[in-house]
Amino acid sequence: MIVRRDSGGGLWLWCPGCEEAHRVSVDGHAAWEWDHDEERPTISPSLLVRGTQSAEGEDFHKPHHPDVAAGGPIVCHSFVRAGRWEFLADSTHLLAGQTVDVVPLPDWLARPTA
Ligand SMILES: [Zn+2]
Repeated sequence: MIVRRDSGGGLWLWCPGCEEAHRVSVDGHAAWEWDHDEERPTISPSLLVRGTQSAEGEDFHKPHHPDVAAGGPIVCHSFVRAGRWEFLADSTHLLAGQTVDVVPLPDWLARPTA
């Protein structure tokens, strides 16, 4: 399973740059456009995820953004097109500037909650 919808109009994907799930709103106001392809999705416009790095060993520390010091801004900026993640160069993770295949959701996220 590459994408999973939730009841709130969200679409979940596993980001191989951040090594965490990103949720995109595909219903309602300010929604992204998704072509409803569940294997090779295209989502537009681009996805921009921002956060703040925390210190190593603390909660919410993001090891896949190793060059961001504690308190610094985390950026994940990408396009998802036809099943490929295109990570733009302003991303702070290790896949910045690279294009990779979308990856399956981990089991714990793919399995519907009871
Ligand atoms: Zn990401």
